[in-house]
Formats: sequence, structure tokens, C-alpha cells
Amino acid sequence: MGLTDIRDRIDTAAREAGRDPADVHLIAISKVQPNERVEAVLKEGHRLFGENKVQEAESKWPGFRERYAGTQVHLVGPLQSNKARKAMDLFDAVHSLDRPKLANTLARLAQETGTCPDLFVQVNTGEEEQKAGILPRDADAFIADCRDLDLPVRGLMCIPPVDETPSLHFALLAKIAERNGLEGLSMGMSADFEEAIALGATHVRVGSAIFGARVYD
Ligand SMILES: *Cc1c(COP(=O)(O)O)cnc(C)c1O
Repeated sequence: MGLTDIRDRIDTAAREAGRDPADVHLIAISKVQPNERVEAVLKEGHRLFGENKVQEAESKWPGFRERYAGTQVHLVGPLQSNKARKAMDLFDAVHSLDRPKLANTLARLAQETGTCPDLFVQVNTGEEEQKAGILPRDADAFIADCRDLDLPVRGLMCIPPVDETPSLHFALLAKIAERNGLEGLSMGMSADFEEAIALGATHVRVGSAIFGARVYD
């Protein structure tokens, strides 16, 4: 495992799917990882990272960004509306646009500031009650509403249910993206990024396979 190994596996999976490996972006999910591990990956030249909490990103990334030019950080975890302003400062993309209220808040802030991170609409493909995301049947209307608000929606994101075949969810997400003319597909994690690439992932979110297991204390 490690960065080089994952990059190799991404390249192989892309080629096997007849795709250009350069079209698959590796987001190194650095949540909970100690700074030394994160910095080691920065020193290897990697520049695209993901976090799932605003507060954690706030304490970690401004410093790294200063020292490592070109660093980009994406938010892949839930975003509360009252942290939206902070998130717009901290992140280059938000993968968790999952409800109308957040869309409205982001649109207002985008008007006010003149900028907005790239956005991915999170779809709850497994229709799991405890999981965030727009239901598949509501996705087309929600995407249209976001476009009406002039939000820069670049693609869709999903987190498949743990106990189901991820490919079915990746295929569903790809279908919703295609019929809405969206190019971005944020799908695939450490255990299943190769399947996601076979089904069109443009952004894979890989944490533990790069950094090692997360140690929660
Ligand atoms: C933690 C996390 C990941 C990475 O998970 P791994 O299994 O460590 O690769 C990907 N996406 C989201 C939304 C996450 O919260």
C-alpha cells in the first residue's frame, strides 16, 4: 500500500476500462491521520486531499497550503449550513451538497463573495435512512434547482451501503450523472476504487489504503 501503489492500481484500472488515467483524480482522504503521515504524502508530491470535517480541515490545511504550493483540499463529509461560509474559504470542492437548504445557503454566499467551490451532489443511492444525500428519484429535480441557483455543480457523489455490491450503486450514480449532463463522478474508496473506475469514476476518495488505518482516540 501507499501512494505509489494506489496510483499504479488507478492507472491499471483506468487502462483496463479503456480510459485515460489522467481523467481519474486521486483524493487522498487525510481525516484523522497524524500530520507526519499527511506531510509524507505531500513530500511525495501529491497535492489533492480530502477531509470530512470543517474544523479538522481548518486546523490542518492552511499551514500545509502555505508550505506546499498547489495543494487542493476537498470536503467529502457532511456540511452544516452554519459552517458553509468557512467551508467556502477552506475547500476547493464540496462533495456533500445534499439538501435544498444548503444549496440556498451556498448560492447566497456565492453571490456575496463572487466565488464558489466546485460542487458534487451527494446521492443516497442505497436509500439508507441514516445516510445523507438526495434520493435517486429526487436527483434530477434537485440538480435542476441547483443550476437555477447558478451553483457550479460538477458532478455526483455516493457512498454505497456497506453490505451491498458497490458496483450497482456506482452504475446508478453514473446513470443519473449521464442523464443530467454531469461529468464528475466522486465514487470509490480504499476497498472498491477499481470497480468505481471501471464504471466511470473521475474522483476516487482513498484514505486508509494510502495512509494506513485511522486510529481514533
Ligand atoms: C473516510 C472516507 C473515505 C475514505 O475511506 P477509506 O476506506 O479509508 O478509503 C472516502 N469517502 C468518504 C466520504 C469518507 O468519509
